[in-house]
Amino acid sequence: MPKLLFVTSEAQPLIKTGGLADVSGSLPAALKKLRWSVRLMLPAYPEAMERAAPLKTIARFYLPGVPGQVRLLEGHLPDSQVIVWLVDFGPAFDRRGNPYLDPDGKNWPDNAERFALLSRCATEVAMGRAGLRWVPEVVHCNDWQSGLVPALLSTETARPATLFTIHNLAYQGLFPQASFHALGLPPHLWAAEGLEFHGDLSFIKGGLFFADHITTVSPNYAREIQTPEFGCGLEGLLQHRSRELSGILNGIDVAQWNPADDPHLQHSFDARDLSNKAENKRALQKTFGLPRDHKKLLLASVGRLAEQKGIDWLLAAIQRLASLPVQLVLLGTGDAKLEQALRKAQQRFPDRLSVRIGYDEGLAHRIEAGADAFLMPSRFEPCGLNQLYSQRYGTLPIVHAVGGLKDTVVDYSPATLADGSASGFCFYQPRAEALLEAVERAATLFTQHITEQTAGTPGKTGGQRKKAVSTWQKMMLTSMGKDVSWRRSARQYAKLYQELLKR
Ligand code: ADP
Repeated sequence: MPKLLFVTSEAQPLIKTGGLADVSGSLPAALKKLRWSVRLMLPAYPEAMERAAPLKTIARFYLPGVPGQVRLLEGHLPDSQVIVWLVDFGPAFDRRGNPYLDPDGKNWPDNAERFALLSRCATEVAMGRAGLRWVPEVVHCNDWQSGLVPALLSTETARPATLFTIHNLAYQGLFPQASFHALGLPPHLWAAEGLEFHGDLSFIKGGLFFADHITTVSPNYAREIQTPEFGCGLEGLLQHRSRELSGILNGIDVAQWNPADDPHLQHSFDARDLSNKAENKRALQKTFGLPRDHKKLLLASVGRLAEQKGIDWLLAAIQRLASLPVQLVLLGTGDAKLEQALRKAQQRFPDRLSVRIGYDEGLAHRIEAGADAFLMPSRFEPCGLNQLYSQRYGTLPIVHAVGGLKDTVVDYSPATLADGSASGFCFYQPRAEALLEAVERAATLFTQHITEQTAGTPGKTGGQRKKAVSTWQKMMLTSMGKDVSWRRSARQYAKLYQELLKR
């Protein structure tokens, strides 16, 4: 069995702040099914230690510049056979809560040291210097937190192959030059063709410059990041590496996100019988204190409240949105100004908009199940997961056609309706007006659906009145029938690892 070390800073259900955790929690298990021997490595945060237990110490070692012994603890990813290796060094990782931010929402001041430690530890394991019998042939690193691994391995001979995946190019792990020296990194790595980025130390450049191959989480984002508009200043480097850069779409955990068997729902449903979806809509309206009205298009949004997610466009359009036959529920946490603005908007339109500030996994599932349409007006979106969840729950996405949203949502049009591919609504201009127009199109189609459902159409047998399948319902069925499982994506990663082994 080929051996893979998967290095990450978060993995569901051990610890999660966003999509990276979903990927790290699912892909290793899918690869294991494809007969890869996988070790999932991440820091020993207290929550991760509790959830991966029972743990045993499998290695102890010292690293240059690290004041104390580092331990490697072995446990398991819950509900799977995936072996987890936790890098345990109390002063760096024994902190509860968000893995990157302090309780005030600021970056931990020692993030450079913390994630350099993770990278160093991965490098020791990769080079067979940790005293373990298991040594990987491929090391798969994810985002800036493990970006130093390919850089450190580049200084070694007879090293494993390296793959670096960009889950979000906007987060680069930038630190002052002094950190480079404090970390004791090999001096030759301080170069424009290395870890230096406009005078700062860039962790992500370690991956982008030194990995044997780079992937990102959708083919469209792989193209976009080679342009100034989406490249965050790294487009030149990415163009330079374009032959070793490709996109592999994320999958989703179809067991966890399954409307037919979801412990978070009171009313399960599937594509053969959608009737319970209406029950979930009623329950959601009740939860959010909105009038129970099946005729209104119930829109939803779940996610980090960050500039990336385009919530400001939503706020800019809110007055005109409220004049349409729609309601909107929103669950999210993040930027304090956006939280405040959303609360204000809710006060203005209490029977149209209801907001929950916070992080609530169960509620996220109930929202996907109960909403009619799901809003993702992201400025950029490497892949996006919620539009995949929503399609599986028959909730049509309304998205800004960027990144993975463009790859996974097929805009409703006469042509896509005719060929049976329409699965949502896209807008193409980065503006509130464009978002509003897309919602209007969705609302019009939804009203048509409600009218048809209320009227019914004559059936073929015995003069009974049998409801025809509306265009809206056809799109629901198209969405629900898509293969969004990890199996498909994992095969592509496995193929890529094999190619890297041959190089
Ligand atoms: P990103 O990684 O940019 O945050 P993704 O769409 O790739 O965006 O993944 C976000 C993940 O985090 C999804 O699984 C989403 O449901 C979840 N999520 C984000 N915010 C919340 C929240 N407030 N409550 C529950 N789940 C959330």
